[in-house]
Amino acid sequence: MSQPYDAFLKMVREIGQLGTTAALLDWDSETYMPANGLAIRAEQLALLAKLAHERQTAPALGEVLRELEASEITDEAALTNIRETRRSYDRATKIPAELVERIARESTVAKDAWTKARAESAFDKFAPHLEELLDLQRQVADAVGYKGERYDALLDEYEPGATAAELTTLFASLRTPLAEFVKQLADATKQPDTSILNRSFPVETQTLWCRQMAEVIGFDFQSGRIDVSTHPFCSGTGPGDVRLTTRYQERFFSPAVFGTLHEAGHGLYEQGLPMEHLFVPRGQAVSLGIHESQSRMWENMVGRSRPFWQRYYPQCQAVFREALSDVPLDEFYGAINAVSPSLIRVEADEVMYNLHIIVRFEMERDLIEGRLAVKDVPAAWNAKMTDLLGITPTNDAEGCLQDIHWSMGAFGYFPTYALGNLYAAQFFAAARRDLPNLMQDFSQGKFGGLLGWLRTNIHQHGQRYRAGELVERVTGSPLSIEPFLSYVRAKFSPVYGLA
Ligand code: ZN
Repeated sequence: MSQPYDAFLKMVREIGQLGTTAALLDWDSETYMPANGLAIRAEQLALLAKLAHERQTAPALGEVLRELEASEITDEAALTNIRETRRSYDRATKIPAELVERIARESTVAKDAWTKARAESAFDKFAPHLEELLDLQRQVADAVGYKGERYDALLDEYEPGATAAELTTLFASLRTPLAEFVKQLADATKQPDTSILNRSFPVETQTLWCRQMAEVIGFDFQSGRIDVSTHPFCSGTGPGDVRLTTRYQERFFSPAVFGTLHEAGHGLYEQGLPMEHLFVPRGQAVSLGIHESQSRMWENMVGRSRPFWQRYYPQCQAVFREALSDVPLDEFYGAINAVSPSLIRVEADEVMYNLHIIVRFEMERDLIEGRLAVKDVPAAWNAKMTDLLGITPTNDAEGCLQDIHWSMGAFGYFPTYALGNLYAAQFFAAARRDLPNLMQDFSQGKFGGLLGWLRTNIHQHGQRYRAGELVERVTGSPLSIEPFLSYVRAKFSPVYGLA
């Protein structure tokens, strides 16, 4: 292509290389780095962050962007790279360096204060930091600019193009039918017994089983690996090197097995991104919400489906003889799909999960807009939990202090989890429409059909389309709550013996 485009591509690729190098160092510090390596690692990461920021805001990048925008480029990949680099360049240059530094400093302090406040279950010890972080994020929103409301500018960082108004409509329509369905399940006479999941599942056997499950759904171990970390995640440097982590508990089957399928779902997306666009937007994931749709689909719609376990349960029983030999498939299937209100988001089931997100979305939007005072957070949290989930936290640690996000100044992040669930259901319904034998394939241990469909329709496009446009192109309609509601009703009613 043109000489300015080549120069531009070189700059953007190098920014991507700096970012993925930092990701690899981050992965190492969560998995293998000895404790005393922390000080060295912090310096290395700080340098990489500084170099990346200098390049993201370089006047030369701004100049070449203007030149390219004025030229007659028609190549789709080039247009995608220019559009998305413009977006990140504008964001990076509009936020004053002094504000970026204050946020970095305050987040470090706030994270520490949050850890202590959570341990003591004392919100008032975190409150002044939350106040400060909110103030800084309002400044970010004002610097970046927005059409609707401040929250939009923050949301845009995680889910480009999404708006608070859209989410409000979506979540408002989801609230009542979901809460009503939860109540029906709670009142059902048939209730799954989850205690079988707390029997003994030796960690060594779990490790082998998890690896095998990731492999059967298509995760390529020549282009990735699985290790152990405190908080599971997926990162890496590109399609050829994807790092998953998980964690094992001897007396709990679910976290490692479904956690691995979840992270492997993220990993399959990363492995499916186009190699020829390595390090640049056309070769990167669309948004956090779309990323989460991939992990939730493999974890829940595949990994917690009856056909999946029709195929693998006999093998699972043989491997975990002591725990499962006397448990019939039906009972196991009910246990892994039990729905019950819990106070903690990360422990929530498929049906309850979005309600936890609605609580957080409504609160953080009110906080940013100044409609909710920081001192009223615990009371507001508890009232919303009671209203939406029917249970009330008895202290701040199991209430408003449970998540790390706000202490990092991440406002606008939570909705991407719920969007992920909604996107996943809508994509999955479209996949089932396009591949009528999909569920039978699962019962024969065949997942290539679904993976191929995701590769063709989602993975290979990188950031070619924004999330909303992608959903519409792939499924034929804009994002809606209906596929999710139909999915949970069809799946969970039989588990609870409802018609
Ligand atoms: Zn995830």
